[in-house]
Amino acid sequence: MSSVSVPTSQKVAIVASTGQKVQIKDHPVKSPEDLAPGECLLKMHCTGVCHTDLHAALGDWPVKPKVPLIGGHEGVGEIIAIGKDTEDCPVKVGQRVGVKWVAYSCRDCEFCRKGLEQNCEKVLLSGYTTDGTFSQYLVSFVHVVTPIPDNLESESAASILCAGVTVYRALKYSQTDPGDWIVIPGAGGGLGHLAVQYARYMGRRVIAIDGGEEKHKLCMSLGAEVWIDFTKSKDIVADIKKVTDGKGAHGAVVTTASSSGYTQAVDYLRDGGHLMAVGLPAEAKLDASIFFTVFKSITIHGSYVGNRQDALEAINIAATGAVKCHYKMKKLSEIESVYEDMAKGKIAGRIVLSMD
Ligand code: NAD
Ligand code: ZN
Repeated sequence: MSSVSVPTSQKVAIVASTGQKVQIKDHPVKSPEDLAPGECLLKMHCTGVCHTDLHAALGDWPVKPKVPLIGGHEGVGEIIAIGKDTEDCPVKVGQRVGVKWVAYSCRDCEFCRKGLEQNCEKVLLSGYTTDGTFSQYLVSFVHVVTPIPDNLESESAASILCAGVTVYRALKYSQTDPGDWIVIPGAGGGLGHLAVQYARYMGRRVIAIDGGEEKHKLCMSLGAEVWIDFTKSKDIVADIKKVTDGKGAHGAVVTTASSSGYTQAVDYLRDGGHLMAVGLPAEAKLDASIFFTVFKSITIHGSYVGNRQDALEAINIAATGAVKCHYKMKKLSEIESVYEDMAKGKIAGRIVLSMD
């Protein structure tokens, strides 16, 4: 418990029902006295805006979010209160922590025991099945929040908590080796630009695919060796084969929100290649040749965010300075225009919102 003064009302960005405009509204703050054991109250500093938040606001996925919905799932804040009778509390009042897509997992079901906390039978998803980080105050869970190292500022840490963790885990399980070629469709976006950096950190050679000069410059500055503009290339498979001794790439981490980023992946992977499916287009089917998937010994993995350990690893790498989120700061009240730019593919890197 803490003696800090907590207002009864705050500003949040909320959608009344999916497909409607996001609005800034007053919303109650849970009183510290009402926190359940295991809960903590955070005063939020900032939050990244992920393309998932736009999917949630539109309601375009086959699994629907709760409404009304306060979105957001990559935020950093300070713990200002902890529920009384919380046992084995791993965090303290005053500590800076991160909130992830997985807001809560039980740590006790089959999936949690196997390290698939994101698939927990009782999972709560921030900004999807429970209210998220587009708020000035947020109730979270002491066993799930991610401690932020002192030398990593909140604005730089925010997008590591979803975009960073997700691509870090996808690369970690891609069964590629240092020196191998990784193709990253969506490389200039939020997930993609972090994937380029984690891949380089792991010693992989990066072929970045995205569109436009700003994203081209960003990807090359982050260590990509090859750039392919999907809006201009006449034959992406041929472009990739040309730079990989005619054999194709060892792995692909697809981070596009449209299905077009997936279409040729099986064709440009070499024999034994791994396709890490990360981007989540609404309703699309994976259009892969069964014959060539088998004939080329291709493995297709669905890679879904990461667990608490993946988050710590991704954050610790960012804290060394080896991976940096490239972000522009905006205010929570500007969120509608951020969604508009995101839908048009205009954002290179990430937008991070301040809560003041
Ligand atoms: P973003 O909008 O920041 O980036 C997507 C990028 O893809 C853009 O730069 C866009 O120009 C590019 N793009 C579009 N079509 C392309 C194509 N055919 N080839 C190459 N590039 C193309 O989005 P984001 O926040 O990085 O999220 C990307 C996707 O990942 C979303 O669908 C999001 O919901 C999903 N996501 C999945 C997980 C997971 O756990 N698997 C976690 C977070 C986000
Ligand atoms: Zn996300």
